[in-house]
Amino acid sequence: MRQKHGQNFLIDNNIANNIVKAADLEQQDKVLEIGSGKGILTKLIQPQVKHLTAVEIDETLSKQLNHFFSFHNVKNIEIINIDFLKFDLRDLQSSIITRDEAPQNTSFKIISNLPYNIGTAIIQKILPLKNWTTAIFMLQKEVIQRLAAQPNSKDYGYISIFTSYYADCKVLFDVSPRCFNPPPKVVSSVVKLINKLPKLPESIFFDFVKHSFSMRRKTILNCLSSFKELEKSQGTKILDSCGLDPFLRPDKLSISEFLRLTNKIKQYTICRI
Ligand code: SAM
Repeated sequence: MRQKHGQNFLIDNNIANNIVKAADLEQQDKVLEIGSGKGILTKLIQPQVKHLTAVEIDETLSKQLNHFFSFHNVKNIEIINIDFLKFDLRDLQSSIITRDEAPQNTSFKIISNLPYNIGTAIIQKILPLKNWTTAIFMLQKEVIQRLAAQPNSKDYGYISIFTSYYADCKVLFDVSPRCFNPPPKVVSSVVKLINKLPKLPESIFFDFVKHSFSMRRKTILNCLSSFKELEKSQGTKILDSCGLDPFLRPDKLSISEFLRLTNKIKQYTICRI
């Protein structure tokens, strides 16, 4: 049977400790946990930080966790029962800023044993935010390898470029299926991301990267000349001005080469208007 909401609960306290330790928590930190579940990570994080916002889609689980913390009279936690993908991030800001604080004090860390079915969607929602500092995510090993992949590898693709645009990425350790209940079918890994605080990219950048990897076996010249109605001769000029071989496949290009190409594409498409 498929697990509803990717509910493979971590049951290994050692692994839970190592995940939380990786965030280098300090008493003044604010933390967002996505998918608190039965609370194995939540209960470790809460005593170490100033405030914890936990988001959980499952009403029963979020009620149970709420009862646990109310029973222990814990005040520095808010458990929000909502689908994180539908969560308005302005509500996250207001949960994170406490009443006695200046609005600029909104930086927070993220810790999550992500629901595997929507892990990359959650990552794409959260990474563009400016005010997270460190994120520790657990996901299927295969997905973590894609997040951290470098050019020239089979795992390198859109999500690798997306992640490396926003963050420095370090794979920390693997986690066996035996550490969960029920055990997932695959090995998991834990990754640590540090926000690079980049300026927000022009939408054309990720559009072009996505377009290129949707045809990753074609040459970059083909990718260019099927994007935004560019002509092949323009594609050739763009590649030439960037010093790039037109017969390269997209998986050979680094993030900075994609950025250079995007700047040139912009010039050509603006000129045409
Ligand atoms: N943190 C717990 C742990 O480590 O055992 C649970 C991890 S489990 C892999 C993922 C959790 O995310 C589940 O509790 C699930 O109900 C919750 N979840 C799934 N989809 C979600 C969503 N869209 N928004 C918020 N929580 C979600």
